[in-house]
Amino acid sequence: HPPSAPLRARAEIDLAALRANVRALRAHAPKAQLMAVVKSDAYGHGAVPCARAALEAGAAWLGTATPEEALALRAAGLPGRLMCWLWTPGGPWQEAVEADVDVSVSGLWALREVTGAAARAGVRARVHLKADTGLGRSGCQPHDWPELVAAALRAEADGLIRVVGLWSHFACADEPGHPSVAAQLTRFREMVAHAEERGVRPEVRHIANSPATLTLPEAHFDLVRTGISLYGISPSPEVGTPADFGLRPVMTLSASLALVKHVPGGHGVSYGHHYTTPGATTLGLVPVGYADGIPRHASGTGPVLVAGKWRTVAGRIAMDQFVVDLGGDEPPVGARAVLFGPGDAGEPTAEDWAKAAGTIAYEVVTRIGTRVPRVYT
Ligand code: PLP
Repeated sequence: HPPSAPLRARAEIDLAALRANVRALRAHAPKAQLMAVVKSDAYGHGAVPCARAALEAGAAWLGTATPEEALALRAAGLPGRLMCWLWTPGGPWQEAVEADVDVSVSGLWALREVTGAAARAGVRARVHLKADTGLGRSGCQPHDWPELVAAALRAEADGLIRVVGLWSHFACADEPGHPSVAAQLTRFREMVAHAEERGVRPEVRHIANSPATLTLPEAHFDLVRTGISLYGISPSPEVGTPADFGLRPVMTLSASLALVKHVPGGHGVSYGHHYTTPGATTLGLVPVGYADGIPRHASGTGPVLVAGKWRTVAGRIAMDQFVVDLGGDEPPVGARAVLFGPGDAGEPTAEDWAKAAGTIAYEVVTRIGTRVPRVYT
């Protein structure tokens, strides 16, 4: 494809919108620093360009799940505070410490790994102790916390680590009013107080994800970790719409129609013939499928804007393509089919696809595959 030719499919990434979202989020949490969560290739938007744009717009920190993601950002030249939290035994602890990556520690095994790496590297590792305040995923249980804190303080006294963060993560912040949110906040305060009473002096205490950043100021502490909202998507319909918070969706996914043709009524469409044309009509072939991350669960339900109207996926979404019933309209081959975008040009949103597929918008954008070129605007 020469640069001027229409692409089979493209995910346009509006970095100006991302920068504006960073500024909006900072205004929602004015007393806290902001961490741009750019794990999973920035939720499908492209980690390096999004990380760079977020730092330009005032994010002080970057966050990833895996250390490999963090090291890739360093290799691309991204500066500043960078934290990762999904560690396994034998992971690249030493590389992370040497690359100035902050690491999360949820238990004694991880503390042993990081102190060993720091000793070998000859540098102090920056550690965030993670408390399980109720999510039940990673993090240290309250009954194991005193032992972890004591061991971390010994490693600090030995010059191997510095405990720079105390942190946790919410289970239900996207359901405003859920009783677990207040319970987690109380437990977080208690666990922070215990650590500080024993002599831990963290630079940052942090628990807020996007929904807590948008709806729960008492959870902001020193740092908020925003992912989905950075990309202009609301954490859940219960929290609100992106526009309610001054956020704008960053990704627009579109494809060029690969075929437009007339078919008679009663014609089966796509594998399994789950759609049959109700009468003579035109069909459009949209050349993206589940290999590109289009959720197959949206077969028969996913919305697409073609020639000014919403069309619905007709029959099954296949690996590389699906069909829409154009109802007799005859847009030219190559016409743009917009699956989702900000929504203000009449196109569906990632939330609409999430609803159609029975999932969350996080999954819709994150799964858009590497076969779809990202085009940065
Ligand atoms: N913090 C941690 C530890 C996470 O795993 C995530 C993402 O799931 C986030 C923050 C960002 O969450 P959100 O995308 O809801 O802002």
